Amino acid sequence: MRKTERILHLKSCRGRRVRVVREHYLRERVPCFSSLCQAECVNDGKVLPGDVTHYVVPDVGVVADYLEILEFRELQGIVFTQTACQAMQHSKGRRQYNRLRNLLKDPRHDCVLFANEYQEFSYCPREKGESQEKWQTKCVYSAAVWYYNHLAGMKDVVMITEDRATISHYSSLNSGVYVISIQDYLDNFWPELQAARELYVSVSQALQEKESEGSEREYAEHLPAEVLEAGIKSGRYIQGTLKVNKHRAQNEAFITLEGSSNKNTDLSSDVLVSGAKNRNRAVHGDTVVAELLPKSDWRGKVMALTEGQTEEKSGEDNQSNPMPTGRVVGILQRNWRDYVVTFPTRDATQSQSRNSQRILVTPWDLRIPKIRISTQQAEALQDHRVVVRIDSWESTSLYPNGHSVQVLGQAGELETEIQTILIENCIHVSPFSEAQLREMPVNPPERPWTVDPTQAALRRDLRESHLVFSVDPKGCEDVDDTLSVRTLPGGAVLELGVHIADVTHFVNEGSLTDLEARARSTTYYLADRRYDMLPAVLSADLCSLLGGVDRYAMSVLWELDAHTLVVKKVWYGRTLIRSSYQLHYELAQALLNGEQADVPELAQLSPEEKDAKMAELTQALETLTHVARQLRALRDRGGALELEGVEVRAQLDEQKNITALVPRQPLEVHETVAECMIYANHWVARKIQESFPHHSLLRHHPPPRQEFFSQLVDSAKAKGFTIDTRSNKALADSLDHAVDSEDPLVNRLLRMMATHAMSQALYFSTGALSQDHYYHYGLALDRYTHFTSPIRRYADIVVHRLLTAAINLDCGVGPSKASASNEEVQEMAQHINNKNRAAQQAQKLSTELFQCLFFKEKDPQTDLHCVANGIVYAIRDNGVLVFVPQYGVKGPMYVKNREGQVVTVGKDGSCDWQSGSVQRHSDHIVTTSSAGSTTFRLFGHLTVRISVRSSRCHADSLNLEIISNKPHRNSEPQPARSQGHSHLVQEVVRLAEEASQQAQEKAARGPKLSKEEREFCQSKSPNLYSLLEEIRELALMDLGTAAA
Ligand SMILES: [Zn+2]
Repeated sequence: MRKTERILHLKSCRGRRVRVVREHYLRERVPCFSSLCQAECVNDGKVLPGDVTHYVVPDVGVVADYLEILEFRELQGIVFTQTACQAMQHSKGRRQYNRLRNLLKDPRHDCVLFANEYQEFSYCPREKGESQEKWQTKCVYSAAVWYYNHLAGMKDVVMITEDRATISHYSSLNSGVYVISIQDYLDNFWPELQAARELYVSVSQALQEKESEGSEREYAEHLPAEVLEAGIKSGRYIQGTLKVNKHRAQNEAFITLEGSSNKNTDLSSDVLVSGAKNRNRAVHGDTVVAELLPKSDWRGKVMALTEGQTEEKSGEDNQSNPMPTGRVVGILQRNWRDYVVTFPTRDATQSQSRNSQRILVTPWDLRIPKIRISTQQAEALQDHRVVVRIDSWESTSLYPNGHSVQVLGQAGELETEIQTILIENCIHVSPFSEAQLREMPVNPPERPWTVDPTQAALRRDLRESHLVFSVDPKGCEDVDDTLSVRTLPGGAVLELGVHIADVTHFVNEGSLTDLEARARSTTYYLADRRYDMLPAVLSADLCSLLGGVDRYAMSVLWELDAHTLVVKKVWYGRTLIRSSYQLHYELAQALLNGEQADVPELAQLSPEEKDAKMAELTQALETLTHVARQLRALRDRGGALELEGVEVRAQLDEQKNITALVPRQPLEVHETVAECMIYANHWVARKIQESFPHHSLLRHHPPPRQEFFSQLVDSAKAKGFTIDTRSNKALADSLDHAVDSEDPLVNRLLRMMATHAMSQALYFSTGALSQDHYYHYGLALDRYTHFTSPIRRYADIVVHRLLTAAINLDCGVGPSKASASNEEVQEMAQHINNKNRAAQQAQKLSTELFQCLFFKEKDPQTDLHCVANGIVYAIRDNGVLVFVPQYGVKGPMYVKNREGQVVTVGKDGSCDWQSGSVQRHSDHIVTTSSAGSTTFRLFGHLTVRISVRSSRCHADSLNLEIISNKPHRNSEPQPARSQGHSHLVQEVVRLAEEASQQAQEKAARGPKLSKEEREFCQSKSPNLYSLLEEIRELALMDLGTAAA
């Protein structure tokens, strides 16, 4: 090791330049992380493969400005130098630097970090008078030469730079290293990678434009970080997340405070930020610092309904009173993501581009401001959806500057709109890579997968001893749970078993499959398709607990007192099972009811054998039902909410197409299975929490905030019901009593409001909360987690690993590696919570998309589909909120329009708009005009016309318009509504397929779907989950307990 001195010029936090002399140690051995290494470097971790054509070393400028190009997974053999990384950290800040670190850590990206400044033969000291930039370039070049020599010329090495002088200077040195521009590099080495080339053009244009920026100031400068920090500490400033009101995106935003970091504790509400100047370039989602304005400048929210607005979750009906109001003084963290935008129309482009090459594009998300980008393609892309990123927002610029990344396709087409929804929710579901799939076991028909004898020896074998079976919806492929029940010899003890797919046996922690599953966190169910969390070989095959085949499982077995059901013993462990029956709900219920039923597994048997087997199975189902009833009763006494509101059920054929949606016939067997799963989840939660009190992953459901119940309580009062919200038990009981015998929809709507008032159930690390916060309000359990669906939820995979570690601990086997800390588990919990929220949001948006596509094809004036029955569920200042059960649509309906006219209903029920006035009351709203007055009551039935409000840049939305204040009688009540729904999805899918066929026939006009894009659609047919999930809004049942 050789010691030298290194001089650093750093900027102090006050902005002064400081010269620092550091001792700098040079070593002969610094790992090269190449698999071609002949020099015996200690290459721990990720290494560059030998089979790439070259290694590429980006210089400082390329790493700082073009990192997103280096993020293409197709680019291989990238060497990041320490010099470039440090320089980028200095110039671009923490967020960008973290991005680079993640890239280096991620095994899916073929890149490494080379500590060039510690390598004796690669390091070059900075010469006197040499500029920092020159010296850095020299260092990077020297590192590239070192690689070339270190690998004995076996690998071509390319240095890329955007600096012309560097290219001409170093190209002539003949050291074996090529020095070229990014453009040349992409053209020569990656000619197939069109997307990277386009991105390069887009980024470099944005950089050029930035240089020609004006200097007139539009906004106040942000305060420096240390001033912000001191201000927060002293209580002068507050810190929080900026949330823009999408209905008034230009003017109204709120800062949601982040509790602990704010001294200003007398603030109980959000802080209002009014207008663009006060928002000071903060974008929705950013972490901002704000200063409160004097009380005399405080303002209130606007209360009237606006287009497309439904309910907001708030306690107070009238919040137009002045509230704390502030202005943004600085930004702690930008939380920018990829945004989908639409280009201006041709006319607008021409008027915009007179003075510059730049155009203003409109984000799909109403909360995001217009973004200025430079492009030559504005005209060609005007009907397309395009992904852009924001680069910066200077105080001299009215709008943020950005660049385009990717063209999604023609606006309005199903595929484009679905991709838009995914990107807007940060959902990335590219097909599983080949490297990932190579990790997977195989199960070809000619050489089927078999049980590994060493595994069999390690596991408890239940194949002969236990009657194991599954109960799922018809047509279910991914069976993650199975059950068993038996009476132990003597008759005093019942043994209940829940056996879950042993996914963690196949998915090793840290493997590529694991990383991908973690990134997704859940299987995504959209209205017409799903994106699996795990590759199909696991989810539909080797992990799926199918009938008649051997499978690995994670089991929980309880020994219960046969009479009291008191738990005598619990056993947790890995097992080997063979499910005897793959039942569906209707079949299981028929067996329980003693009805004639055909069990396919028994079809081949003789009548005697069949009867015996049938009796055995029926007995097991009966015992299970008995156990579940008692378990349920125990939870009910604790206050569990009977809140599931799943009222329609999808019937699927063998291709998983929906053949019908039938009104839910509540089958007890649904609840039986759900109860057993809840029980297993609860007991696993206890086990892992007891073994790892500070870093277990649990799921809690916080009690709702009382003020959120006001709408529910007031609405129920209007119907003469009393809703008691003091406890979950009281709420559940009073909801059960709030039944209008004339109108079943009343109870449904009240439950919908109760759901709306609920908090979200969330994952957390046990070390992050005190134990009194572990409670699951909806299920009335002191501890809960997710264990029973590892095929489609990553949380369950984490829990399986924790359970395995807990079992090992009991056997005295220490963990093979350090387990995750509380902080890591909490971070994971938050990641999964975010992804779940995104999944829900994407599902909701895709359902709305389908609704709009369905109605878009119809003429609202003539088509009978467009007229339906609606029911009023809330009163607003200028209208009411209406629910249309036939299509599951909710939306505002105005009784007063912008021209000041009000709707008046004549004696025959027909509607007319005339100038007049509106009086709002708590449970009704009255319009008065010269033609008379009309009252619209809460829970009143109306006839509405549904049409589509088209939007060029944003999602289309449905428009509800009153045509009579009498109920719509034409539609048959229940079956019609169900058919309407399945019909809706099928109809839209059919039209989209026709359209895409036509598009293909019309040759290649506009960008076609790539192979990858096609593979995105892993399943085209509507699926059960989406329909259940869609109405989950009406259900309060915890997602994990949904029997599906
Ligand atoms: Zn080496």
